[in-house]
Amino acid sequence: MSNELLRKIPKVDEILVHDDWQELIKSYSEGIAKDALRQYLDELRVDIKTGKVLSIPVIDVIVDETRKKIVILTTPTLRRVINGTGTIIHTNLGRSLLAKTAIDAIITVASHYSNLEYDLEKGDRGDRHDHCIAVLRKLTGAEDALVVNNNAGAVFLVLNTFAEGKEVIISRGELVEIGGSFRIPDVMKKSGAILKEVGTTNRTYIADYERAITDNTGLIMKVHTSNYRIRGFTHETNVEALTALGKRSNVPTFYDAGSGLLYSVKAEGILDEPHIFQEIAKGLDMVSFSGDKLLGAPQAGIIAGEKDFIDALKKNPMTRALRPDKFTLAGLESTLLLYLDMEHAKKEIPTLRMIHEDVSVLKTRAQRLARQLKKKCNNVTVSVVEVYSEVGGGSFPDVVIPSYGLSFIPHNMSVEALEARLRNLAVPIVGRIEKERLLFDMRTILQEDEPLVLSGLETALSNGQ
Ligand SMILES: *Cc1c(COP(=O)(O)O)cnc(C)c1O
Repeated sequence: MSNELLRKIPKVDEILVHDDWQELIKSYSEGIAKDALRQYLDELRVDIKTGKVLSIPVIDVIVDETRKKIVILTTPTLRRVINGTGTIIHTNLGRSLLAKTAIDAIITVASHYSNLEYDLEKGDRGDRHDHCIAVLRKLTGAEDALVVNNNAGAVFLVLNTFAEGKEVIISRGELVEIGGSFRIPDVMKKSGAILKEVGTTNRTYIADYERAITDNTGLIMKVHTSNYRIRGFTHETNVEALTALGKRSNVPTFYDAGSGLLYSVKAEGILDEPHIFQEIAKGLDMVSFSGDKLLGAPQAGIIAGEKDFIDALKKNPMTRALRPDKFTLAGLESTLLLYLDMEHAKKEIPTLRMIHEDVSVLKTRAQRLARQLKKKCNNVTVSVVEVYSEVGGGSFPDVVIPSYGLSFIPHNMSVEALEARLRNLAVPIVGRIEKERLLFDMRTILQEDEPLVLSGLETALSNGQ
């Protein structure tokens, strides 16, 4: 039976002269198309042999299936999405969006040669680590700085440089895990440093650190517990006391500050997020932070601190393995330059703009979108609702920002089905389901994406999709 079926599969030559095939190769290269066809036919043969397919598809269908294969093959896996979740620094959705000037800077260095490692004044070899430094010194108040691939890399580099084979004193309450795979104790082990926990989960005093210092102490480390807070009966040793102890005992001090806040945010509840400039001023030898969290730049890890310490980091061969590429440096430097005028930065850097966006603006946008949607779709109940956005990225764990959004209850399918359909659009829209409604928060939806949200909903809600 299956042998008979196998013989009935149209010959490749027959398919190649079919009108549908001729139409197909107008849009795609013939080589790619033939490869996809061969792959389809191979799979068809297997399906026939295993009894999964019991009749031979006609040529139209074969060409159509081949087209689907080509689309999958030629579409990048990394694609844009619309973030309707209300989480501004969403690690799963790519964290920070870049400012226009940062994007332009990246395009410029991508399409032209640059002075990445060339000293234009001397006409000689330069150092890629010289970029971004002047502006970082100004914004952090630190003497010097080093940019690496990401903050996890920055932490690893500091530990490996100053504490390989030595002890690192850290409060038990700060042995945190950040986003799944970054656990301070694990990174410490890989760096060759020996963990020396002090205090208890909720209380650590300066005397605990002092008692732990020995001849083999490499570093005193502090970690910002970005994604959680301990409440109640707590005591955290302040940074000033730690830096004084470090100086007294001749042990370097290092603070993994996490998010990279470069200005003071005077809003209720968010005052305890470390402001990098203020932390450096307390006398820490090194502070590290991410480029793509609150700072709103490309993925990067920045270590700001005393020149001697930065020089020692640069001498570590691991710095070469963690070095940033030219796109990172271009995007980071132009983002940092925006911070020289804070009011400008809050408008131009999308992460900051979203955090500070006025709730009345979001309400107006939600109302307008709801009106447009009601005109187009009659198979869904749309309401403008008050929601709460989150900063995300492990920053401001307790803080929610009042916002406005849209809620959807479809009439022709389940809320789950609508959510899944929106995720599978050509430009996917990611929302969240709450109390049997689908919610979109306007705070993280770009205004320029509103037409796509509208057409996306229309497609997803149509019965024939
Ligand atoms: C996010 C975070 C990290 C990791 O930073 P990446 O830039 O994602 O590598 C490390 N430490 C703290 C405290 C963080 O919040």
